[in-house]
Amino acid sequence: MAESQLQELRGQVDRINLQLLELLNQRAKVVEEISKVQAQMGTGFYDPQREADMLTQLEMANNGPFSNETIKALFREIFRASLAMQEKDARAKILVQRKSPDQATVITMPDGVTKIGDGSFTYLTGSCAIESYEQMDQVAQALHKHGVKLMRGMAYKPRTSPYDYQGMGEEGLKIARSVADKYGMYVVSEIMDKSQIDMFADYVDIFWVGARNMQNSFLLKALGKIKQPVILKNGIASTLEEFLYGAEYIVSSGNPNVILITRGIRTFEKWTRNTLDLGAIAVLKLESHLPVIVDISHSAGRRDIAIPMAKAALASGADGLMVEVHPNPPVAMSDAKQQLDLKQFDTLMDTLKKMKI
Ligand code: PEP
Ligand code: MN
Repeated sequence: MAESQLQELRGQVDRINLQLLELLNQRAKVVEEISKVQAQMGTGFYDPQREADMLTQLEMANNGPFSNETIKALFREIFRASLAMQEKDARAKILVQRKSPDQATVITMPDGVTKIGDGSFTYLTGSCAIESYEQMDQVAQALHKHGVKLMRGMAYKPRTSPYDYQGMGEEGLKIARSVADKYGMYVVSEIMDKSQIDMFADYVDIFWVGARNMQNSFLLKALGKIKQPVILKNGIASTLEEFLYGAEYIVSSGNPNVILITRGIRTFEKWTRNTLDLGAIAVLKLESHLPVIVDISHSAGRRDIAIPMAKAALASGADGLMVEVHPNPPVAMSDAKQQLDLKQFDTLMDTLKKMKI
C-alpha cells in the first residue's frame, strides 16, 4: 500500500518537474525576447532594481511551505542562468567571436609575404623605447639577422610616473621609419590619442594600443576607420570579455585587421611583474579568430626567464611573440630589467627556431 502511494506521489513529482521544465524554458524564451528589445534600446542586460522587484513580488506571493529565503535563493539561480544565457548570446553575435574552428583573421602586410595569424609564428621585437638613431639601428640590424619583419618603435611611452622617460615623440617616429626602411621592416608603434592618427600614418605600419588605452572607445572607434592593422593589448585589470569587446570596437567600426597582444595579468606575485596566464591565450584562440601575440617582456618584467617564457608562448598555440631588445639594457631609458641584450636575443631566437618543426 505504502509502496503504491510512494509511486503515485513520485509520479506527481515527475509531472511537476516536467511542468517546471516547460515553464523555465518558456521563461528563457521571453528573456531572449527581452534581450532583443534591450539590444535595440542599447541598454545592458543586468538590472538590479528589476531583480529586487521580482524577488519582493515572489516573497509577497509565497504561501510556503518553502521559506522566503529558499524561494529567493532558487529564483536568484534562475536569474543568474538567464543573465548568463543573455551574455553568451550577445557574445556569439560579436564580430571578433570565432564562428567556426577554421575561421582565422590573417593580416597580410604590404609586401604580400609577411603574414600574421596564418599559422606561422610572428616575431614583433625591438626596444622598449626609441632613444637614438644609433640604438635603433643596432637593434634593427640584430632583428634583421633573424628575419624579424615587425619592429617595435615606441616614440610615446605611457609611463606610470610622469617623471619617467616619456619618449622622443615624432622625432622618434622619424628614426623608427628610416631604420625600418633601411632593413626592410615594418614599424609598430603605440598611439596615445585619436588626435595623433594622421601624424602616425606617415611613419607607422601597425598602430599599437597599449594596456592603458584598451577601453578608450573613442580611440578604438577612430582606429576602426584606418586601413593599417591595429594591435590591441589587454588592459591592466581587464577581463578577457572586456578585451574582446575592445577589439570589437575597432572591427565594428570598419577595420577587420586587429591583432591581440597579451601582457599577462596583475596578481599577488611579486617576483614577476605580471603573471602570464597561458589559459588566457588558449581561451582567446578558442573564442576569437583574431591572431594572438604574447608579450613576454611586460608579463615577466625580467630577462632571465625570457627563454622558458618564449618556449611556453610558442607551445601555447599563440601566433607570435613580443620581446624587448636593447643594445645595452642596464642603461635603457625604460624597462631596463626586462630588455634582452643583443646576445641574449640571438640565443632566444636560435632556441626557438630549433623548437619549431
Ligand atoms: C609596451 O608594450 O610598450 C607597454 C607600454 O606595455 P603595457 O601597455 O603592457 O604597459
Ligand atoms: Mn617596455
